[in-house]
Amino acid sequence: MMLDYNSLLLALGVSATCLAVTLMGSWFARRAETFLLTCTCGLVLVVSGIFVYSIYVSSPGIVMGVASFVLFQAGFAAIWGAGYQFRTNRLPLAGILIRALSAMLLPVGAMAAGYDGLGFIADNTSITLLLLATALQYWQAKAEAPAPIMGITVLYTLTGISFALCAAVLIWDGKLVLGAAPNNWAEDLSLAVCIASMTGIGALSLALHQWRLAARHRQEAITDSLTGLLNRRALFDRHGERQMGSSTAVIIFDLDHFKSINDRHGHAAGDRVLKIFAGELAAHCRSGDTAARLGGEEFALVLKEIMPGRAEMIAERIRRTFEEREIYIDDEVLKCTVSIGVAPGRAAPMDFDTMLSEADKALYAAKRAGRNRVELANHLQAVPAAPSVRSAS
Ligand code: GH3
Ligand code: MG
Ligand code: MG
Repeated sequence: MMLDYNSLLLALGVSATCLAVTLMGSWFARRAETFLLTCTCGLVLVVSGIFVYSIYVSSPGIVMGVASFVLFQAGFAAIWGAGYQFRTNRLPLAGILIRALSAMLLPVGAMAAGYDGLGFIADNTSITLLLLATALQYWQAKAEAPAPIMGITVLYTLTGISFALCAAVLIWDGKLVLGAAPNNWAEDLSLAVCIASMTGIGALSLALHQWRLAARHRQEAITDSLTGLLNRRALFDRHGERQMGSSTAVIIFDLDHFKSINDRHGHAAGDRVLKIFAGELAAHCRSGDTAARLGGEEFALVLKEIMPGRAEMIAERIRRTFEEREIYIDDEVLKCTVSIGVAPGRAAPMDFDTMLSEADKALYAAKRAGRNRVELANHLQAVPAAPSVRSAS
C-alpha cells in the first residue's frame, strides 16, 4: 500500500499517457469528434506538467515550479474546453485561453515571488475550479447518454474535491514558504484519486464516443441523405404496422417531367429542385406528421389528427406554392410542378399499405389528367371495412 510519492506520480503519468494515446486513436477513427482531440491536447499538457513536477519534487526550484503550474493550468483548461466542446460542438478557444491565463496568474505569481506555499494553495484551488467547471459541462449534457455522462461528472467532481483537500491542508498548515514540494496525506490521496479517475474517465469517454457514433448511425439509417427527410424504410417502420383511422391521411407526390429538368439543367439542378420540394413538404408538417422521400422524385406525407377535407386542402396548398416557386439555376429561372394523390382516412381502419396504394392510384389519375393537380382516392365506391380491399378507383 505504501508506495512512495514519486512512484505514484510515475503511475499517474503512465495512465494519463495511455489515455491520451487511446483518445487520440479514437479521434483518428472518426475525425469529426474533435472533443477527443481537445481532451488529448489537455492530457499531453498535464502529462508534461507531471513530468516537470517530478523534477521539482526531487530538486525544488522556481523555474520548474512555475513551468509545472503553467502546464497543469493550461492542461486542465483544455480539458474543460473538451467538455464544453462535447456539449456544444464548438471549440471555445478564447474560453480556454482566458481560463488558463487566469488560473495561472496567482500560482505563478506567488511561486515567482518565492512564496511557494501560497503558490501551491493557488495551484490546487485553480485546478479544483477547472475540474468542477468541467464536471458541470458534462452534467449539462447528461440527457444525451445519462449513464456514461453521470460517471464522468462524478469522477471529475471527485478529482476536483481531492485537489480542494490538498489546498485545505496547506491552508491549515499556513506556511507561505515551503521550500519543497508539499508532502501530506491529501497529496497522496489526490494522486491515488487522479490515477483511478483517469482510468475511469478514459473508459467512459470512449463509451461516450461509441454512444455518439451509434446514435449517428441510427440517424443516418433513417434519413434520406439528399433531402434530410425520412427515407422509405423509416416511413414503413413508423407506419407500416399500424391501422389508420379517419383522422389520418396519406398523400403521395411525384414531380412532373422531372427527367427533363435533369436533361436540360443537369443532375445537380435536379438535386436542388428535390431539396427545395423537400423543404416545402417539411414546412407543411406539424408535429406528429411524417414527410418522407419514397425514392427518386417521389415523396409521401402522412398527416395525423386531421379533420375531414383538410388533407386535400394541404395538398392543394403545397401544389400551388411549389408551382409558383421560382428556382434560380445559374442565370436561368426554372419552374417545376407536382402531381399529388391523396388518400384520406376512413371510418373503417385501413392498413398503411392500402392507404399508400390508394394514394398511388390517385396520383396516377392526376398524371393522366394532365399533371400539376391533386386527385383524391375515390373511396366512396370502395367497400368499407376489410383492410385487404385495394380496389379504390
Ligand atoms: P412524370 O411527370 O411522368 O413523373 O415524368 P418524370 O420525368 O418526372 O418521371 P420519370 O419517372 O420518367 O423520371 C424520374 C427521373 O428522376 C428519372 C431520374 O433520372 C430522376 N431522378 C431519380 N432520382 C434522382 C436524384 O436523386 N437526383 C436527380 N437529380 N434526379 C433523380
Ligand atoms: Mg416518378
Ligand atoms: Mg415524376
